[in-house]
Amino acid sequence: MAALKLNPMISKMEESYTVAIFSKVSNMKSRGEKVNGALCVGQPDFPPPPEAIKATAEAAVQGLTSYTAVTGTLELRQAISEYLQKYKQVTYSTDEILVACGGKQVIYQAMMALCQEGDEVIVPAPYWTSYPDIVKLSGASPVIMETLASSGYAIDATKLAATITPKTRMLIVCNPSNPTGCAMSKQELEAIAEVLRRPENQHVLVLSDEIYERICYDGLEHASFATLKDMWSRTLTINGFSKAFSMTGYRLGYLAAQKDIVKAVSKLQSQITSCASSIGQHAGIAALKCDMSYIDARVVELQEKRDLAMSLLAKISDVQCPKPSGAFYLFPDISAYFGRRTPDEETIEDGVQLCLYLLQKYQVALVPGIAFGNPKCLRLSYAATKENITETRQDTALKKAYLRGFGSS
Ligand code: PMP
Repeated sequence: MAALKLNPMISKMEESYTVAIFSKVSNMKSRGEKVNGALCVGQPDFPPPPEAIKATAEAAVQGLTSYTAVTGTLELRQAISEYLQKYKQVTYSTDEILVACGGKQVIYQAMMALCQEGDEVIVPAPYWTSYPDIVKLSGASPVIMETLASSGYAIDATKLAATITPKTRMLIVCNPSNPTGCAMSKQELEAIAEVLRRPENQHVLVLSDEIYERICYDGLEHASFATLKDMWSRTLTINGFSKAFSMTGYRLGYLAAQKDIVKAVSKLQSQITSCASSIGQHAGIAALKCDMSYIDARVVELQEKRDLAMSLLAKISDVQCPKPSGAFYLFPDISAYFGRRTPDEETIEDGVQLCLYLLQKYQVALVPGIAFGNPKCLRLSYAATKENITETRQDTALKKAYLRGFGSS
């Protein structure tokens, strides 16, 4: 049989590491193996708001089961517009909003619509695992710009100014960040905007991924990038229902941007998925209008879980981790353990090997930092039960493999 001929684009891209690990965990579970997969996936462990669940059933019973407008139902776009005005103080009309099957899809479509070969897209690292591959799919080149643990992984404005070239089409700002949990303050965002306002940088757009905007801690007030002076028309605001509303399986997200951008991205969507699920969209309206004290209470719990996970990590020597103020991830630097031997005489050379070791020997799934552009770290999601975080099984991975320090180096 002739070799399977694939689009060269496929060989240029990576499969999503996080999705791959999650599938491995699902396979282990389906073989009846006990595995703690809660810490490897960006999925909250609480149910969606009750109003959203009720609306889901209602939609099916009431026959809201047909295609909707490509851009999403007017009712949902109206609800999004009101939400953004009320909570983010940013004004978008209903034709400046596009509803899609998740934030991931709308980021992909936006990149395809706006970027092309010869363009550069600045991706601050550590980055959400999908950004570089999505950039590559558009034909543009990802330009990785490091951020430092010592500054809590915030984007450095001076470094940004030095990274922008005449070819820079877009800067990605993920705030709060997956995987670091870094939530940049308005002041830090303002420093970025100041660089972008310079005459030589007027050509740069910003993709502001704000999917974790409701999940901020210690009283930090999240600011939408589009609220900064002169930034509205240059910003593509991305948000969705997967994180604070815990509606990952609904596959619902949106883009808010100037009309011409939304029009172009909608045109692309019309040939890809037509529209997001009608039932999901109905539930999305209810989620945006739900009693937000439900979400606020979940965020308080997440902050407690962050503190619990941080205190457990602090007990492990040679592990560094800045305290995050948003999202629900820790991104500890575990590189001090590379080259050391495990209690069963295996030498762990890198983060991928460490994650495989933890999964195979102790059935705990974590994601190696290389998936996020920093091979020294690994990512742990604490949007799990407190039992999952402390791991009640007798031979816990963190206790046995970490606390014993992998034997000698
Ligand atoms: N952006 C970031 C930073 C994310 O972490 C995720 C989900 N992991 C997404 C976008 C996409 O979310 P969804 O497609 O579920 O809306």
